[in-house]
Amino acid sequence: MLLYSTNDHALRVPFREALFNSLPADRGLYLPVTIPRLPAAFWAGLTELSLPQIAYEMARALLQNALPAAVLRGIIDEAFDFPAPAVPLGPDTYVLELFHGPSLAFKDFGARFMSRLMGYYLRQEGGRPLDVLVATSGDTGGAVALGFLGVPGVRVTILYPRGKVSPIQQQQLTTNGQNIRALAVGGTFDDCQALVKQAFADAELNRQLRLTSANSINIARLIPQTFYYVGAYAQLLRQGRREVVFSVPSGNFGNLGAGLLAWKMGLPVRQFLAATNANDVVPAFLRSGVYQPRPSVATLSNAMDVGNPSNWARIADWFRDEPEVLSRLVTGYSFSDEQTRAAIRQAFEQYGYVLCPHTAIAWRAWQQWQQEHPQADGVAGVFLATAHPCKFPEVFDSEVAARIEVPAQVRELAGRPRQATPLPVDFKALKAYLLAGAGG
Ligand SMILES: *Cc1c(COP(=O)(O)O)cnc(C)c1O
Repeated sequence: MLLYSTNDHALRVPFREALFNSLPADRGLYLPVTIPRLPAAFWAGLTELSLPQIAYEMARALLQNALPAAVLRGIIDEAFDFPAPAVPLGPDTYVLELFHGPSLAFKDFGARFMSRLMGYYLRQEGGRPLDVLVATSGDTGGAVALGFLGVPGVRVTILYPRGKVSPIQQQQLTTNGQNIRALAVGGTFDDCQALVKQAFADAELNRQLRLTSANSINIARLIPQTFYYVGAYAQLLRQGRREVVFSVPSGNFGNLGAGLLAWKMGLPVRQFLAATNANDVVPAFLRSGVYQPRPSVATLSNAMDVGNPSNWARIADWFRDEPEVLSRLVTGYSFSDEQTRAAIRQAFEQYGYVLCPHTAIAWRAWQQWQQEHPQADGVAGVFLATAHPCKFPEVFDSEVAARIEVPAQVRELAGRPRQATPLPVDFKALKAYLLAGAGG
């Protein structure tokens, strides 16, 4: 597999280099030079395939010979040992539950796949230890930390906005110990992300440390997120559904980017819904054609509080010659916190099902799409449930909260001591912190 940069279409880099660099030196994003279309035989046999089988076929087509087939199969079987069920809620409405992994969020798919790939290549070559730097608005860090926990030769440093993540997220970020360190930054998620980007661009840090990112900007996180779109489609086919709308709760737009990658590989999709909270840069762009990033605002769905979505450059690059295809394929919706709360309540009354605030926005977007397309009978809407509701207890009233079952992964964290180092929004301070540990 070869990759180019969104800032340099002539660049050619092997997969392993893109995996460890995360970002090209020109600050663009890596994208595959060729996107294979999956063969007709794959689609014809899809209903017979399990999620790991689908994942293997898709990864093999994308990665080609970047690693031996048997190693790839082993990584997939180990990484995706939990289900991703498309659960029917109403006649045409399905929730794709992506929260059954160890951190209870869909980011487990990306983090577990990427960490194992890195682990494989590190074992191959021996060499210097790896420093993983992650900016998180809440969920990414938990997934990454758990994905890398105990992987030899890897140290993970997580930057999160102090006071802006939920108590369970904070518990997940700060109680790991071993090779995981947490930095509580006195700023926003955008500040955390800017600090991490600056670290990757810093010559001295790159001389002293072997830095890599594990954010959704890493191509190795995007690839595994394509698998569950096709996995969901397979489940719908088994239930006799053919025409599908995917509603994706979006922040950095890695998840929607993965959906579009699956579409480019041949997944038939009627429409993608880009569902955001008040941070509506992309829905505004889809309406007006003007892309105008701005500082993020805090909302109930804080993992989507992104004012300058880093993955948008990928999507823009894919459709730069055919913007009309993008605007036909993707419809943007944005909802306020009041609408989010109302959606949680309405879904609870309608289905007896509790949506996390991010997921609620995706469900609400699907409701709206249905209203706007009264003639689209028989189209199945799949909205992605990106996190388990128990991660956001402060959002729910007592009646709804009482219906949430807390999974075993969370009960185990309670009572573990928290460890986080406070950090100002100051690159010099981050650099000093990282270099302090460089020698030992
Ligand atoms: C990260 C996250 C999102 C947004 O996903 P992107 O790929 O950044 O668009 C949505 N919901 C939850 C719960 C998340 O953690």
